[in-house]
Amino acid sequence: MKSPAFSYYEAKDLADAINVKKTDDDAVILAGGQSLLPTLNMRLSNPSVLIDIGKIKELREIKIEDGYLSIGAMSSHSKVMSNEDVNEVLPILNKILSQVAHPAIRNKGTHGGSVAYGDPAAELPAFAVLVDAQIVLSGSSGERIVSAKEFYKGLFETSINSDEILTSVKYPINQNNKQLFFDEITRRHGDYAMAGLVGSIKQKSNINEEINLVFFWNW
Ligand SMILES: Cc1cc2nc3c(=O)[nH]c(=O)nc-3n(C[C@H](O)[C@H](O)[C@H](O)COP(=O)(O)OP(=O)(O)OC[C@H]3O[C@@H](n4cnc5c(N)ncnc54)[C@H](O)[C@@H]3O)c2cc1C
Repeated sequence: MKSPAFSYYEAKDLADAINVKKTDDDAVILAGGQSLLPTLNMRLSNPSVLIDIGKIKELREIKIEDGYLSIGAMSSHSKVMSNEDVNEVLPILNKILSQVAHPAIRNKGTHGGSVAYGDPAAELPAFAVLVDAQIVLSGSSGERIVSAKEFYKGLFETSINSDEILTSVKYPINQNNKQLFFDEITRRHGDYAMAGLVGSIKQKSNINEEINLVFFWNW
């Protein structure tokens, strides 16, 4: 099928993108397009305009700040996997992302896109909930931070307001001596998982003091 007709707007900067978004409820953010474009082709949505945020440099920053690893929304999965800070302070992200699709899709698909889309079969939303990441949103009334546990409201449903853009995801670095783990079952490597699990265990003297598990599955 072919997508419905829509306009295209390339945002100059974050303020420009928010400005267009706040004036049009049917405007939709275009990040890597790896989930959005297939849904348009299947006519599952009918946006008036796609606001391309791909040229906004600040959204590609990956940095360590105040005890958090902050990943800019437009960082591609491949860039996150090859980032030294990520591999030093949260190496499990590399393991998780290596199971997300194939290299071509990982080169385009973005961290913010995956977290904002909220697919229940996706790995990153589950991981964000496990470690209770901070989701940074910018809108016409400024910036606000929502904890990942509050961010997801249901399948593909988040608390992003219609004038807001997800700008970064902040993961706490110090996991309080918790060991993080991840596994999933797929039909073929690169497919969405049929089911998967991310978890953390805190041990003291070989006794499990605390275990947290978050499942994701192909509904
Ligand atoms: C064949 C195939 C296999 C895949 N396998 C997996 C997999 O195994 N695991 C997995 O997790 N993903 C998988 N994906 C999806 C991939 O990870 C995408 O990168 C991801 O879903 C979203 O990325 P995107 O940057 O392309 O977002 P887009 O497709 O551009 O956007 C997705 C949605 O999020 C919104 N959005 C995007 N960015 C923002 C933002 N900054 N602020 C507010 N809203 C925003 C858009 O408006 C849209 O509604 C697969 C995709 C394909 C095509």
